[in-house]
Amino acid sequence: MSLDLPLVARGKVREIYDAGSDRLLLVASDRISAYDHVLPTPIPDKGRVLTQLSVWWFEQLTPVLSSFGATHHLVSASDVPAEVAGRAMLVRRLEMLPVECVARGYLSGSGTVEYTRTGSIRDVVLPAGLVEGSKLPAPVFTPSTKAEIGEHDEAIDFSAVVAAVGAPRADELRDLTLALYARAAEIAAGAGLVLADTKFEFGVSPDGGLVLGDEVLTPDSSRFWPAATWSPGSVQPSYDKQYVRDWLTSSGWDRVSPPPELPSDVVEATRERYVTAYERLTGERFV
Ligand code: ATP
Ligand code: MG
Repeated sequence: MSLDLPLVARGKVREIYDAGSDRLLLVASDRISAYDHVLPTPIPDKGRVLTQLSVWWFEQLTPVLSSFGATHHLVSASDVPAEVAGRAMLVRRLEMLPVECVARGYLSGSGTVEYTRTGSIRDVVLPAGLVEGSKLPAPVFTPSTKAEIGEHDEAIDFSAVVAAVGAPRADELRDLTLALYARAAEIAAGAGLVLADTKFEFGVSPDGGLVLGDEVLTPDSSRFWPAATWSPGSVQPSYDKQYVRDWLTSSGWDRVSPPPELPSDVVEATRERYVTAYERLTGERFV
């Protein structure tokens, strides 16, 4: 296969190509985004790390998916054009459901912001006294809209999911999301990591079956924290772009003008985090 395929869409960090009527090629780049900007400096190997991690997770999660009569969209990570080898996935083309399926086991980020204001995340009422990083009494399903490119996802009530996809499918999305989160959190715990939250996207195959799509359980779609240093009350050190965000903040960048180039030590430290997340989770060396 060559990369001489029609481009379907170009996101901030990925390109999607048309690979036939029922296939797409998802290509992850080394671009990194923060605060809704793509930074001018790429992170070497990021595309490969995130793709390999996603592929690994699809395999780990297959038993959970099967128990719900569901599948995942990955067809092959090896039958891809040579110029994107290692950072591309050939997948089944799906009709994506218009919901981002977020599971949270810990309070963080936009969840903390909303909880601090209202005591809830949309219709999910939480106990009093939680702080950034707190473990929730039980994992919760906090869906959000799937925003158009450039727009922000917004948290929605469960009733909005029912309105969008119907009650039976909404129940299925919630139950499957929580089951996948529980299994992934258990695997992460075995690797000394807390899976604080994650976001899944599902689609429907031509036969009507539910299919797990997109990338899964990468540092771009999830918060992973080292379990050893977990201590609620402040922002936890993480394996995602927190490090880059912190550097950008300390650089004095206004988050509006074009973002600055990252210094080479920040690039290397960020790369190191992505690679470490991969190696700890999979137990394999990243090559
Ligand atoms: P952003 O750059 O802000 O992340 P984005 O989410 O649209 O924007 P990507 O994440 O790069 O950009 O794009 C991936 C797109 O492909 C998403 O819209 C996702 O829902 C869609 N997608 C993922 N898997 C499939 C699939 N198997 N079939 C059809 N669409 C898919
Ligand atoms: Mg996306």
